[in-house]
Amino acid sequence: MPKLNENYQNLKESYLFSEIAHRVAAYTKANPGKKVIRLGIGDVTLPLTPLAVRGLHAGVDAMADSATFKGYGPEQGYGFLRSAIHDYYARNGVQIDADDIFISDGAKSDTGNISELFAADNTILIPDPVYPVYVDSNLMNGKKITYLSGNADNQFLPMPDKQIHADIIYLCSPNNPTGAVYNRAQLTEWVGYALENQAVILFDSAYEAFITDPALPRSIYAIEGARRCAIEFCSLSKTAGFTGTRCGYTIVPRELVFTASDGREMSLHAMWNRRQSTKFNGTSFIIQKGAEAVFSPEGMAQCQENIRYYQENAKMIAETLNRKNIRFFGGIHSPYIWFECPDHMESWEFFDYLLTNAQVVGTPGAGFGKNGANYFRLTAFGSHENTKEAMERFERLF
Ligand SMILES: *Cc1c(COP(=O)(O)O)cnc(C)c1O
Repeated sequence: MPKLNENYQNLKESYLFSEIAHRVAAYTKANPGKKVIRLGIGDVTLPLTPLAVRGLHAGVDAMADSATFKGYGPEQGYGFLRSAIHDYYARNGVQIDADDIFISDGAKSDTGNISELFAADNTILIPDPVYPVYVDSNLMNGKKITYLSGNADNQFLPMPDKQIHADIIYLCSPNNPTGAVYNRAQLTEWVGYALENQAVILFDSAYEAFITDPALPRSIYAIEGARRCAIEFCSLSKTAGFTGTRCGYTIVPRELVFTASDGREMSLHAMWNRRQSTKFNGTSFIIQKGAEAVFSPEGMAQCQENIRYYQENAKMIAETLNRKNIRFFGGIHSPYIWFECPDHMESWEFFDYLLTNAQVVGTPGAGFGKNGANYFRLTAFGSHENTKEAMERFERLF
């Protein structure tokens, strides 16, 4: 009989989205005439941009011709895409080395897999509330987590506690689920803390393209010293609507070298390269051709049009909450609006209340950690029409 990885017993049942689906199905069945509007999804709805589609077509055509056909590609990704990402960062004023970029099938895999590079006995800081992948991937490997409290007092932007030593720090900015964004001074403090502790920041910038204020950093590498202490994860999922197409990337600077217990130097870049070339055979060439088109100046301008569409939804939601004096976070540099449930309701209680009285579906904050127990997430990924109607119903309700 195999001995199993019993760390899986430490995982909480991941019932958030299945429970939502279950409650919505039960309501719809009992109330067949009512139109339910879903503002709970963390998934894009607009189609791919014309240039991304053109890139994908070019990839397919190349595969149809023996002169340009591609078999296995480099595990790290094709040079054309790595250099397109390098150029995109450079246009945003951030210098990274194209050879430090690893192309993948998305940020979920990479943020989950990265924990393989670290031993079990690190002090790992993870914010609460949080994208559940960071928590579960560490629990699966038997690791202990120290939670960083995100709350209304710190605007859901926890800062380092200088009294506590950390080895690994997860940060996500703009944040899912709260929509909160760290400014330059705050990230500078995190980088300073990481350097002092010889810690590594695992920085998830999946929503960087939603930042509109040029003063806000869109990459951890906009902060001096970050190349010596940070790995960055990003994805085309929210930037370019690639949630179903699948492409992401991880930047592991060569400067990230630490001393092993036997005194030898170990490079995280070399370790990630070894991990990826052992367990991953690269992202599809066709998808990488689509991704290359996304990172051209014109390709990104088309993505920004879609993002603006979502931002208009976020604005509608934010304006409604403002009129109702409901305290919220996010919604400006993020597709997420995170608000306090009215009347001190618990988040699942509020979910039922909103579904029953307004036929609007959102996401209970409890699904993102204990600090989300009295919060609720709405997303801007719906259509203008549905978002407007949902907000009209909301307005009548409170
Ligand atoms: C959506 C999302 C991602 C992207 O995941 P993919 O696997 O690239 O689709 C990464 N991090 C966070 C916090 C997200 O919400």
